[in-house]
Amino acid sequence: MRHRVRDGSSLASILRLTQAESAAFAGTGVAFPLAITPYYASLLDPDNPDQPLRRSVVPTIHETLRAQGELDDPLAEEADEPVPGLVHRYPDRVLLLATESCSVYCRYCTRSRLVGRGHAAGETHGEPVRYRRWEAALQYIAAHPEIRDVLVSGGDPLTLSDDSIEWLLSRIRAIGHVEIIRLGTKVPAVLPMRITPRLVSIIRRYHPVWMSLHVTHPDELTSDMGRACECLADAGIPLGSQTVLLSGVNDSVPVLKQLFQKLLTMRVRPYYLYQCDPIPGSAHFRTSVATGLEIIRGLRGHTTGYAVPNYVIDAPGGGGKIPLQPDYCVGRDDDELILENYQGRTFTYPDPKVHA
Ligand code: SF4
Repeated sequence: MRHRVRDGSSLASILRLTQAESAAFAGTGVAFPLAITPYYASLLDPDNPDQPLRRSVVPTIHETLRAQGELDDPLAEEADEPVPGLVHRYPDRVLLLATESCSVYCRYCTRSRLVGRGHAAGETHGEPVRYRRWEAALQYIAAHPEIRDVLVSGGDPLTLSDDSIEWLLSRIRAIGHVEIIRLGTKVPAVLPMRITPRLVSIIRRYHPVWMSLHVTHPDELTSDMGRACECLADAGIPLGSQTVLLSGVNDSVPVLKQLFQKLLTMRVRPYYLYQCDPIPGSAHFRTSVATGLEIIRGLRGHTTGYAVPNYVIDAPGGGGKIPLQPDYCVGRDDDELILENYQGRTFTYPDPKVHA
């Protein structure tokens, strides 16, 4: 973490920057912080600005342009925070924003308003402030017996120290009505050496703990990440993935099929494919929804069902995740439904109309 690339001149020493990339650092500098771990930097192509991994972490001037409909907090999370850093949107579960720090800052981050900000010496609130916020969140969870699921995210909670992670998990687990804990992280893809035997032994003490891994492209699925996933899966931590659909990065059937199939070999179940949230300066990353639907159509039936994630839009304004599916029900003929299969062939299914 200490050796991360944090500024334009360090970046220019490892990559041949284009004009659009250099321009992002001109004037007052990048609006959204930069951080790339040495490990992830080693995966970047120094000469190809269109390389998918490079596009996802290296800023360009395009992120300074605000397009119509873009918002700082598109999911309106702040409106659903009963205490700072705790989002209670769905009745039975909460999102605990445990830290504002990540090891790598993705240029399309939903929480770009939040992550990597903070005091000059680091990126998060100082320890006392952080623990005070966690205490307030824990008190709220303890006082709400309907909360059975706590998602610990951020930022990236696996950037916290082992001791902090243990403190937080043990306190959540001590609340009797919390059934499951989930951790949202990109660490296995960007800093896989953080998945140490000690960390894994801490997490497994508080089972059932599930983990959602943020992955973007098959090039991230290295042998290092494979080893990290193996340690986590062997510790009985169910692994799912979350991927943001990104123009020019992963918006094609071959790329996503390769990503999802390879994740299965790492015992990670592809779980969500997100339509990119309209954060400021993200227009160059967003695909049309029609593209997303065509990708799902190109996967469903053409690969293992486990390799097909749920394609969702997290509704701007705080409506929550809304699933999207290509329409396979193409009509009705009296008492039969007309269905289309993955090959485009039609079939009927008896489905008598219900008469009042
Ligand atoms: S790891 Fe997640 S929270 Fe951190 S910058 Fe990337 S998308 Fe945002």
